[in-house]
Amino acid sequence: MSLFEVKERMDMLVKELNQHNYNYYVLAQPTISDYDFDKKLDELIALEKQHPEFQDPDSPTQKVGGEITKEFKTVKHKWPMLSLGNTYNEQDLRDFDERIRKAIGDDFEYVCELKFDGFSISLTYEDGKLVRAVTRGDGTQGDDVTANIRTINRIPRKIQGNYPENFEIRGEVFMHRPAFERLNSERLENDEVPYANPRNFASGTIKLQDSREVAKRPLDCFLYFLYTEKIVFKTHWESLQTVKEWGFHTCEHNRLCKNINEALDFIHEWSNKRHKLSYDIDGIVLKVNNYDQQQELGFTAKSPRWAIAYKYKAEEVETTLEHVSYQVGRTGAITPVANLKPVLLAGTTVKRATLHNANEMERLDLHEGDSVFVEKGGEIIPKIISVNTLKRKEGAKKIRYPDICPECGSNLVRKEGEAVHYCPNDEGCPPQIVGKIQHFISRKAMDIEGLGQETIEAFYRKGYLEHISDLYRLHEKKEELKQLERFGEKSIHNMLEGIEKSKEMPFEKVLFGLGIRYVGETVARKIAAHFKNIDSLRNAGFEELTLVDEIGDRIAESLIDYFQDERHNEQIALLQQYGLQFEGIKKEVTFASNRLEGKTFLISGVFERFSRDELSNLIESHNGKILSGISSKLNYLVAGENMGPSKLEKANKLNIPLISDNELLQMIKPD
Ligand code: AMP
Ligand code: ZN
Repeated sequence: MSLFEVKERMDMLVKELNQHNYNYYVLAQPTISDYDFDKKLDELIALEKQHPEFQDPDSPTQKVGGEITKEFKTVKHKWPMLSLGNTYNEQDLRDFDERIRKAIGDDFEYVCELKFDGFSISLTYEDGKLVRAVTRGDGTQGDDVTANIRTINRIPRKIQGNYPENFEIRGEVFMHRPAFERLNSERLENDEVPYANPRNFASGTIKLQDSREVAKRPLDCFLYFLYTEKIVFKTHWESLQTVKEWGFHTCEHNRLCKNINEALDFIHEWSNKRHKLSYDIDGIVLKVNNYDQQQELGFTAKSPRWAIAYKYKAEEVETTLEHVSYQVGRTGAITPVANLKPVLLAGTTVKRATLHNANEMERLDLHEGDSVFVEKGGEIIPKIISVNTLKRKEGAKKIRYPDICPECGSNLVRKEGEAVHYCPNDEGCPPQIVGKIQHFISRKAMDIEGLGQETIEAFYRKGYLEHISDLYRLHEKKEELKQLERFGEKSIHNMLEGIEKSKEMPFEKVLFGLGIRYVGETVARKIAAHFKNIDSLRNAGFEELTLVDEIGDRIAESLIDYFQDERHNEQIALLQQYGLQFEGIKKEVTFASNRLEGKTFLISGVFERFSRDELSNLIESHNGKILSGISSKLNYLVAGENMGPSKLEKANKLNIPLISDNELLQMIKPD
């Protein structure tokens, strides 16, 4: 596929899948089988991985890790949530100022605020308590996401002070960049599609169906506008000061400006300072301060006449391409990287830009020594937008994507329909070997103390390490190690102790550490819990593997491939011999009875007599199993009041019997 075709295909998949979700969840009239739906979704996930640059914020993968957002109740906004007029140039701001002065005279002030790049939310408070939180939606009506918003600590559930009985307050939910980077790298490690930027992460989070998951993700919120039935303040500035006293989080950088020149100063000041914030802003909002004047100015159909947003352009600089290098990842994926003449961009010095893959290089048509335009937008890694061909030197050679691995010389492979090239030599290609061992010792895997990522690389070069299992023979080389520079007796001792201690790490960590493709942390944990030991995992066939929660076809195939390679089995045998854990600790559980043995349940809705946790405990204590979703593996759906309509629909479709809490009690009653 050409790059253009890839983009087209992705757009089509997004459109199609969103329509299917709508058919399924809203109309309850699916027009496609679950299997076909999943296949299309998988295709989209794969394409987004290869082409993060084409990812659509509206993609179904950006919502709820595959789950759907249509289950929220729709709520009509009391005051429509309008957008803001916006501009990228200062003359427009002066024109805006001119229009206002014509309408209301010269006597007015501006409140200048940062324009947070997040997800707007409208909160309703009654008697000082948060009763509803609604997304902007189409501006007229949005989704009721109250349960999720309640998990955000920065949003008070109860406020204090002298507040009006009823009011609405609006703001922007966002995620700080460090939290975004941490959570996104976790997604990558778990082989999930990473989010393109903090904004997508924040909006994806707010639309999760499971509020417990939302609670785990650190979100923040700035409030910036108060709506009341009767006007209680004279100015916007005053309202911002007061809502802060009630307990709302407002931005400390807001500034009251006397005229447009002061507002422009504010804009200039933040055009650089914004890069030092821990969150993203994409501009500055100017609001006329006085409420009477706001009313006088009024609204257009789309936006208030008393406010405007100035947006900062994504910064772009021109620099010289020095050379293209090719990184080989732990799994053999090749990433081309442009090495640039260092240049200052968006507050940091940029020396490299990603080129993604061969298609992207083809699109740019890079030649040696080209002068290129580099941009840093909302995304973290800078990218090359285009080449300044006017500056291309005569006779400059075109840069060609290599056929062989730059590290080990193996012929690269590229699977049908994929954009990424791989080096297939996983046991013999240096960065893959090093990467695997580095992954094994990493914090999330075996967490080996006293051994760093650089040391692994150094030991590999010295010939001490070639396989994971060699770690457990390092102690034989103790004397040799002492001869190495920068390696004191103490650090060798700590390292060997750390390695020895890792033999106690549980099976699930070992399994994750092996670095089997698609087996992330969570999957490793599920597999370890299900199969209990390496032999039953190795002997499990495709069918048996896919029966396990969260293991789909892709993971099952990858596991089978892994164990088919004898070199992997040899490694495992050695590690077993050295005493690593390849068996889960068997928990001694005694059940109240075995009446529910082999039966699976899902609990949904609310019950008069029991909490859902109580019902779960009851089922598990009689040796039944709780599933996390409705699938053909489910035997009974324990249904209470107010169950979601889509769950009901799905259960009916799969002919899963619904039982009440009473019927459940009957099932476990002694004869
Ligand atoms: P736009 O989506 O470009 O029309 O811009 C309007 C959006 O900017 C609003 O819906 C808010 O979500 C967002 N926004 C961010 N910061 C502010 C702010 N300080 N005041 C008003 N709106 C803001
Ligand atoms: Zn290689």
